[in-house]
Amino acid sequence: MLAVKSGIMLNLYQKIQKIETIQAEADKATKAFKNRYQIDCIEYCAECCKYNDINATPLEFLPLAWHFYKCGKLEELFERVSNYNKPQCIFSVFENGRWGCCVYPTRGLICRLFGFASVEDKHGKACFAACHSLKEKNPELVQHICQMINTGGKTPVIADFYRKLNMLDLNLGDELVPINQAIKEACEIIYMHEAYK
Ligand code: SF4
Repeated sequence: MLAVKSGIMLNLYQKIQKIETIQAEADKATKAFKNRYQIDCIEYCAECCKYNDINATPLEFLPLAWHFYKCGKLEELFERVSNYNKPQCIFSVFENGRWGCCVYPTRGLICRLFGFASVEDKHGKACFAACHSLKEKNPELVQHICQMINTGGKTPVIADFYRKLNMLDLNLGDELVPINQAIKEACEIIYMHEAYK
């Protein structure tokens, strides 16, 4: 059963809408990045969804948890993620001819930015954070993009999007935890809100 969790959020629906807006902005920015530098995922790759160490915020998974709630599947998801013992994201599927993310339209913010955005170095300078697969398969292109960004080329910066997210909820937007925990906490927040509204 879902446990009671403190800190019910006010204005949950508006918050979800604003998170979706930030996610749409991330989609737009990474699409522009791909077009600008002529780079994209390797077909049928999805290696990044197999990483063991993806961290995310509960906040970025509120739209997903809300979607599961509207479909009557929130408790089922909560039970599943609570009993899931693997480090990989619970939504990554690599079997029976399926590959990658099974909740793609409602995936988290990090999922939208990773691979086609930059991180900030200690001086606040943007550095392209390419994925392992593209670094391995196309090192020249990755190197070229790094140089372009080093010399002022445009790039989405992951921290900029997380700063916007953090503005919506200073606790949940700043809480980076393993991705399955973030999904679980998002389920709890939606459950609490709907159970006690
Ligand atoms: S939510 Fe989807 S895109 Fe994000 S890590 Fe999980 S499987 Fe990958």
